[in-house]
Amino acid sequence: MNDDCIFCKIIKKEIPSEFVYEDEYVAAFKDLNPLAPVHVLVVPKIHIESLEEVNEENMEYIDKIHLAFKKIAQITNVSESGYRIISNCGRDAGQEVKHLHYHFLAGKKLGIQ
Ligand code: 5GP
Ligand code: ZN
Repeated sequence: MNDDCIFCKIIKKEIPSEFVYEDEYVAAFKDLNPLAPVHVLVVPKIHIESLEEVNEENMEYIDKIHLAFKKIAQITNVSESGYRIISNCGRDAGQEVKHLHYHFLAGKKLGIQ
């Protein structure tokens, strides 16, 4: 965990957040500034900076995140209507928070971007 990281603080419940799903490896909470009716941030419960820092050792967390997506879809009631997963990595993608996260977007017809 990283003391200066806002998502590490959310995982440790030091900053309140609206959790949608949680297990030993994964935390999923509502985005503060939602871009869709359903906008959940899905993060590993260890500090990985971005996709650039994924490796064989932390891959278990990535596996668990992928398993969590369809659970989050069930919880938010969008399994049938669908959802989109986005992870911004680095400057050109506009990654603001340097703790790997996947945007889970759903609840409306999403445009191509
Ligand atoms: P990025 O641009 O890094 O891919 O996305 C960061 C996301 O984190 C943004 O959508 C932003 O609204 C969200 N965010 C930033 N700070 C907080 C916070 O303190 N709590 C929650 N729930 N979301 C946050
Ligand atoms: Zn962190």
